[in-house]
Amino acid sequence: MQPPDPLEEWESPPFEPTVRGGLVYARGAADNKGNHFAALKAAEHWFRAGRPPVNLRYLIEGEEEISGVSLPRYIRANAERLATDYVLVWDGGFASDGVPSLTSALRGIVYTEIHATGAGTDLHSGGFGGAAPNPLNTLARILGELKDRDGHITVPGFYDGVIPPTEEEKAGWPRGPEYEATVKKIMQSDVFEGEAEYELAERLGARPTLDVNGFLGGFTEEGSKTVIARQAMAKVSMRLVPGQDPARIFDTFAEYVSELSTPGVKVEVRDLGSAPPVVCGIDHPAARAAADAFEKAFNKRAQPRRMGGSIPVAIDFQEALGAPMVISGLGQPGSGAHSPHECFSLDHFHRGIEMLVHFMDGLRTG
Ligand SMILES: [Zn+2]
Repeated sequence: MQPPDPLEEWESPPFEPTVRGGLVYARGAADNKGNHFAALKAAEHWFRAGRPPVNLRYLIEGEEEISGVSLPRYIRANAERLATDYVLVWDGGFASDGVPSLTSALRGIVYTEIHATGAGTDLHSGGFGGAAPNPLNTLARILGELKDRDGHITVPGFYDGVIPPTEEEKAGWPRGPEYEATVKKIMQSDVFEGEAEYELAERLGARPTLDVNGFLGGFTEEGSKTVIARQAMAKVSMRLVPGQDPARIFDTFAEYVSELSTPGVKVEVRDLGSAPPVVCGIDHPAARAAADAFEKAFNKRAQPRRMGGSIPVAIDFQEALGAPMVISGLGQPGSGAHSPHECFSLDHFHRGIEMLVHFMDGLRTG
């Protein structure tokens, strides 16, 4: 789970689940307690009726958002005990209103922190401005140069090897004015930025990204203080797509950022964690069972989708267990994961339990 801040933007306290308009508002409601709880209720249903049609093993962890290492370590150390026919990674949601989705690939991530240091002390901007290195100016310049005005990332070789989505993957993608309007409504912005030559769903799930997530330094209190701060820091993350290697991207990024610095400003790039992109495919019995189950519970067939987010542990499941993987979930569009408006649809919750009950049954026959 993510921290609940900014607290003042919550309409009801983040840890007191509150129902408004058929939605449960709470931190973690959509990401990922709603999914977890529906999965437990589905098993409960089967146990009440006798026993589940297939053997079930649940792994629930709480470190995903901090790139925790316990679960990956556990999976790799216990691969033999965990041997299974299929893995369901139950984290995610619907791509558009009423349309369930099955993830065909996940983006990976590289998360970095850039520290820029200038003079040995904070300096008076009247006495030293014009000669003192200013790490805030420099860091802003570096960040500004990481992307051009058309949204292309300028890190050398950044796009090398990117595997584009197939026509089959793209066929079911949401597109058109209605979809774009939904995304704009969720963003509460009338404008998209980024690579205009790619359709929206591709930009949101199958193109790599680079975003500044935070910028810290200098005087930020009310009023003015004429100071040249000695240091500045920024957090920058990149979402990677199949074909991109996190270690290579980090090295190139760190070198490029250092090259972009200005005289007198020392730049250090730290690696805060990474996860490789994952291709899981949608052409295996478990994926078909999931699509059938969604159809039964939601009256709509699940559509393949490239997921924009990262689920680092997916690669551990894939490499250690080698079993086909289904990645999906119940969150409705606009569930506001990570935001102070996080909420989970009760309708999706109830139908989701039904879907999972069918899914377990489908695995027996599938
Ligand atoms: Zn999350």
